[in-house]
Amino acid sequence: MLSHAKSEQLFAEALKYIPGGVNSPVRAFRAVGGQPFFVNRAKGAHVFDVDGNEYIDYVGTWGPAILGHAHPRIISAVQQAAEQGTSFGIPNPLEVTMAKRVCDAVPGVQKVRMCNSGTEACMSAIRLARGFTKRDKIIKFDGCYHGHADSLLVKAGSGALTFGNPDSAGVPAAFTQHTIVLPFNDVEAVRAAFAANKDQIAGIIVEPVPGNAGLYLPKPGYLEFLREITAAHESLLIFDEVMTGFRLSFGGAQKLFGITPDLSCFGKIIGGGLPVGAFGGRAEIMDYLAPLGPVYQAGTLSGNPLAMAAGIANLEELQSSGAYCKLEELAEQLSAGMRDAAKSANIPVQFNNIGSMFCGYFTDQPVHNLADAMHSDRERFKKYFHGMLEEGVYFAPSQFEAGFISAAHTPADIDHTVRAAAKVMKTLH
Ligand SMILES: *Cc1c(COP(=O)(O)O)cnc(C)c1O
Repeated sequence: MLSHAKSEQLFAEALKYIPGGVNSPVRAFRAVGGQPFFVNRAKGAHVFDVDGNEYIDYVGTWGPAILGHAHPRIISAVQQAAEQGTSFGIPNPLEVTMAKRVCDAVPGVQKVRMCNSGTEACMSAIRLARGFTKRDKIIKFDGCYHGHADSLLVKAGSGALTFGNPDSAGVPAAFTQHTIVLPFNDVEAVRAAFAANKDQIAGIIVEPVPGNAGLYLPKPGYLEFLREITAAHESLLIFDEVMTGFRLSFGGAQKLFGITPDLSCFGKIIGGGLPVGAFGGRAEIMDYLAPLGPVYQAGTLSGNPLAMAAGIANLEELQSSGAYCKLEELAEQLSAGMRDAAKSANIPVQFNNIGSMFCGYFTDQPVHNLADAMHSDRERFKKYFHGMLEEGVYFAPSQFEAGFISAAHTPADIDHTVRAAAKVMKTLH
């Protein structure tokens, strides 16, 4: 057994001063039991805990670390920026570089505004959609997570789902009465909602590839359908690409699927591991934001030079390094290996993957939406999670999170992972 003595000591201390001992709920390991380990160093595809254990990491700080941890180009960009000052609250040149990069890369983005988290990006995009269309209602899909703003915290994925309360306490019903929640991949449900709420729907917000209830893919034609029906009703289509942006391709899921949304939300990768969010879209919509327009949105640290420097370095390295080809190869190796491991252990697993994102659900039924995902055997996942940790492989501590491969993973890392999975799955009967 790996020793976690120092982590246990730190967690006991943390519990005294931090609610649940963590600053974001899924980190507490509640969905898998046991206690979190504390990490004080990470490099490439590996994280090192305070007890000296090393893990192959498939969480990648929940998405940003697409190049692996502590990439030298990002570290040096942040160091250089820090020497010039950590925040100005006055326009700085890096903001312009970043905006230009995002507009050049993402088909649906003509103008972009930076903020500090994916939550802020989605919250602001919704406000903008409502302001622009002068309509109140929003459609979201169950199991999709768009951060923890009030009106979006209904039937949400990620931690909200993990803890069985996708509807949070403290959100007045009045705040969510304009949020219509529908099952993903269901065309008729969307048609019915538009028919029942004529000229009232400001927009649809969707993760084009939902990655906050595990991972499942849009059925062929589904995203096209969302594009068409929103356009037909003069509603906006908002792609929440906080997870998929710059991951599924340099231009995000929208580039990969060839669907151009009206607004897009970003976070994670564009900050290179620093706190960042962004939302952008058609210029005519974006110009509804203050100071040009009537929709208010602001931030003391928005466009922060350290975050911009880290994000720009991340994007430049991603674009120039051939990372996406490498990610595809590693993903192919992992998915083939994991499917074989499950088969040889005779454990039913639905291994969903796209680009460098993946999720293995313990169920014999295909998973296309949240209801399907809920059929998976979570007790089995718990055992699997701890078994893999013991083998030095760290997956997200919940069945309902996507895994991420980074360009710093090696074929040897994947090989180790697949062998460990084959071994651990045999113990799951
Ligand atoms: C992570 C995530 C968010 C929230 O971003 P934070 O930076 O954690 O606030 C929103 N939407 C999606 C799709 C995400 O994956």
